[in-house]
Amino acid sequence: MNKHTKFSIGYYAAVFTLIMLLQMLFYSHVDIRKELTYKQFKDALANGEIARVVILPVKIIGEFKTAENSTESSAKQISDGPTTPWRLQVPQVEKKMARQFSVMRLPNMSDETLLQELQQAGVDYSGRINSNFLQNFMLNWILPFLLFFAIWGIVFRRMSASSGRMMSFGRNNAKLYAQSPENQATFKDLAGVDEAVEEVQEIVHFLKAPEKYTQLGGKLPKGVLLVGPPGTGKTLLGRAIAGEANVPFFQLSGSDFVEMFVGVGAARVRDLFKQAKEKAPCIIFIDEIDAIGKSRARAGVASGGYDERENTLNQLLVEMDGFDSSVGVIIIGATNRPEVLDAALLRPGRFDRQILVDKPDMKGRVEIFRIHTRSLKLEPDIDFDQLAAQTPGFAGAEIANVCNEAALLAARKDKKLISKQEFQEAIERVVAGLEKKNKRINDKERRIVSYHEAGHTLVGYFTPGSDPVQKVSIVPRGIGALGYTLQTPLEDRYLLTQSELNGKLRGLLGGRAAEELIFGQVSTGAANDLERATKLARNMVTVYGMSEKLPNLFLSENQTTSFLGEVAGQLNVSQKTAQIIDEEIERIIKESYQAAKETIQKHRHELELLADRLLEKEVVEAEEITEILESSKR
Ligand code: ADP
Ligand code: MG
Ligand code: ZN
Repeated sequence: MNKHTKFSIGYYAAVFTLIMLLQMLFYSHVDIRKELTYKQFKDALANGEIARVVILPVKIIGEFKTAENSTESSAKQISDGPTTPWRLQVPQVEKKMARQFSVMRLPNMSDETLLQELQQAGVDYSGRINSNFLQNFMLNWILPFLLFFAIWGIVFRRMSASSGRMMSFGRNNAKLYAQSPENQATFKDLAGVDEAVEEVQEIVHFLKAPEKYTQLGGKLPKGVLLVGPPGTGKTLLGRAIAGEANVPFFQLSGSDFVEMFVGVGAARVRDLFKQAKEKAPCIIFIDEIDAIGKSRARAGVASGGYDERENTLNQLLVEMDGFDSSVGVIIIGATNRPEVLDAALLRPGRFDRQILVDKPDMKGRVEIFRIHTRSLKLEPDIDFDQLAAQTPGFAGAEIANVCNEAALLAARKDKKLISKQEFQEAIERVVAGLEKKNKRINDKERRIVSYHEAGHTLVGYFTPGSDPVQKVSIVPRGIGALGYTLQTPLEDRYLLTQSELNGKLRGLLGGRAAEELIFGQVSTGAANDLERATKLARNMVTVYGMSEKLPNLFLSENQTTSFLGEVAGQLNVSQKTAQIIDEEIERIIKESYQAAKETIQKHRHELELLADRLLEKEVVEAEEITEILESSKR
């Protein structure tokens, strides 16, 4: 209220000043009369050219004689200025301007003979005491004050606005999705996460009819944590809950709490819970909760915002304890790094439920393809089952990306409908990066790349347990790849046997083996293969316990399995063991390489056929690969 009054004072002052200024501009300070010097005036008077004058305190205004007014010496009103804005009547004004004049009186000197002279010349004269008194008064006294007030008001408003902003630091900036229908999702926009949706639905029911659950003495859950790899739809699920729950929904992300200033995060948490309790039953959704919920034990030295984040987290813990779950506030958190969260946050009574939002299986992928092609114009022969089969391990976000890429590709080709081919290309693009068709590679290098890729393909084909090759190409892609071999499993796999891992290793090393056998020397092109092979071999030894000398041992201490894939493992073993590990890795790689070389030697003829075909066509598909590689058998 206070703020409002200040605002209106400043506002009215500004408007009033503006009006005054305009008024003065138009009505008094545009003197359109001809300005004479005193001498000119006296001369004109002596010559009898003047018809009448009005004597004002500081100046004299008057009118020259013209043909018309000299004859009819009528007392025509001399206006003290045009009564209408002069711009509107330019011709008349100009006529008047020619007739009227003004002259400054000599200051501090009275021209005593003037009256006599006027009388003698028969001039119609009159006097007027400053009709401008009011105006002058305004101009000299009121206007400065008004201006001052106006400026003061504006400055004050600025200041109070910014101080208001400063005051609202402690306020949470959660978006309240109460009944805003835009930006809302529903459970229908999600697929492949049915279990998660079911659990979440239960929570929504809690809020709608708590008595049903509490009549037996049970307590409602307070916090629910959505965990899962990136892009599986956690944020989307959160929005869908907002859309379905029909209760107020506060959405914010973990980083919203974090600010430069100490204590702000905690204040925001307090404010958020205060608001939420007022609006109960309601849901608070904190996306990416790991931004504040990181384990206090871990955070330590690494981050400068350590204390501040810890305060915020403590406040969150306190607030979550601080209300009874029957109030009807449910907190939903989402993160893809549950392993870094503070244990206190995960204990019963806080985020005691974890809902896994996992990557979709085959059936789920089919549904997700359906959802994301709902608004696309597709050719009728598009087979979602096939697309889903080609995209094992894709998360929802990646599938959404594939669908969008396909649409863009089709548009680029000026197609009316999106065809299979675009989907194919889009999948490859997501898997392997963008094709670089115009990257020039000289013929020698192209030959090396062809044999390299043909080597992968051939070893993959003839090694039991490795994934079937769907496509091999020597079109450069992405940042480093000069060619690639697309191998995808036929189905979703959750376990791999030792022989399958060995098969993978051989396939990875097949490229380099082919180079060595054909050209007698190796190139740098296998770096990425070697990296992957070595990592795999190391994991076989240290994580899966699949070595001869150190069988069935888990040797990778401090390992955190994370949805983000990379294991931040740190060896915590004796030097002797470390040495054995290295030896075992070396042995596994060596044996796999040997096996790959043998396979290639055995099928050298097919390798050459495939490499030639690649050089010729750049891309060879699964059917043709089978045809070439089986040719010698016939
Ligand atoms: P995150 O789990 O990382 O929060 P998002 O919810 O932000 O993932 O997902 C990003 C986008 O991917 C969504 O907006 C949606 O278009 C798509 N998506 C992800 N998962 C699914 C799913 N299960 N069903 C349908 N679309 C999904
Ligand atoms: Mg997210
Ligand atoms: Zn390779």
